[in-house]
Amino acid sequence: MNLPFFPPDLFETDRDAMLALVHEVGTTPDQRFILGERTARLEAALAEMTGARHVIACGSGTGGLELSVRALGLGPGDEVIVPAFCCQPVASAVANVGAVPVFADIDPWTLVMDPVETEKLITPRTRALLPAHVFSIMADMPAFRDIAARHSLALVEDAAVAQGAVLGDHPAGRWGDLGVFSFFQVKAFGTPGEGGMVLTDDDELARACRMIRNHGQDGVTRFLHHRLGVNSRFDEVLAAFQLHRLPGFADRLERRARIADYYTARFAGLADRGVQAPPPGRDGRCYYVYSLLVDRRDEMRAWLTEKGIGSHVYYPVPLPEQQAFANFATPDRTWPNARRAGRTNLAIPIWPHLTDADVEYIADTVCAFVS
Ligand SMILES: *Cc1c(COP(=O)(O)O)cnc(C)c1O
Repeated sequence: MNLPFFPPDLFETDRDAMLALVHEVGTTPDQRFILGERTARLEAALAEMTGARHVIACGSGTGGLELSVRALGLGPGDEVIVPAFCCQPVASAVANVGAVPVFADIDPWTLVMDPVETEKLITPRTRALLPAHVFSIMADMPAFRDIAARHSLALVEDAAVAQGAVLGDHPAGRWGDLGVFSFFQVKAFGTPGEGGMVLTDDDELARACRMIRNHGQDGVTRFLHHRLGVNSRFDEVLAAFQLHRLPGFADRLERRARIADYYTARFAGLADRGVQAPPPGRDGRCYYVYSLLVDRRDEMRAWLTEKGIGSHVYYPVPLPEQQAFANFATPDRTWPNARRAGRTNLAIPIWPHLTDADVEYIADTVCAFVS
């Protein structure tokens, strides 16, 4: 058996399409490789799919968070509450504009930012909340929306891992003033390269994001810079490739969801033996990775490796304990749930082209470890 965690054949079925698109984009008379007609079509397709009034393609998920923070005008003196256990851009996007990331601990099971902890951290300087969906679970967006409304805060929803997920009757990416998707290869709608999207219903925020992504220009007149911006543009070849992949997205998501349902059912009885699966169900679930919490994590990992199954450990060190964010971690605070998640999380393969036999073998192997 050889079931890698990062499969090298993720885009194999679309190889011919990709080669044709590279040629097509490369030989069009207008020689437009970024922010062209294909990018506009991809933005329109995602607007239609999500119901967002504006969708702004950008250079990456990180770029999307950076555009969001800048479009909101955040800067020195402002505080933004972010999860202590997450991908680091939630904190660096804030710190890079001179604002302060304030780290909230997470729920010990769902691993997303805890709304109760979050509300305790609000001060007169707090301007925004930046919850993120993590691994398999969407953050409690109704609670964050309520907190943001009661304290007049902006809400940025990091939906980098949750494109296609739905909580209640709202898709991921549509809960905040701004929502962000990532097309990093392993994300649900990943691509072989970098890309991201910002979603918003707000005309002014959308206008700001569009200008900031391309050096403060308005997209009409070149070399006129209305405000300070960055380079966070979108690639035409990848836009064409994502348009090609879009019709299959729902089926790939459903396949991931079924694998997750199967794993969760198989692992239901293991919680009191030191292996905790994510909560069952489909509402507010995403299937970016399927992450277990395992007491004897490193032993389980070695066992899986021995049986030919790749696995992955995410975020072993909580963000506020990282050197990069030392200035933002006050010594009187600790993040015990983030620390425990870093010590116990173990992600197992969930890519859509796993066969049923592969999935069964992975589940059997996990179960065999504890018995
Ligand atoms: C992947 C990820 C990002 C960053 O997206 P990139 O496209 O890799 O820049 C941000 N937040 C979360 C939660 C992520 O998982």
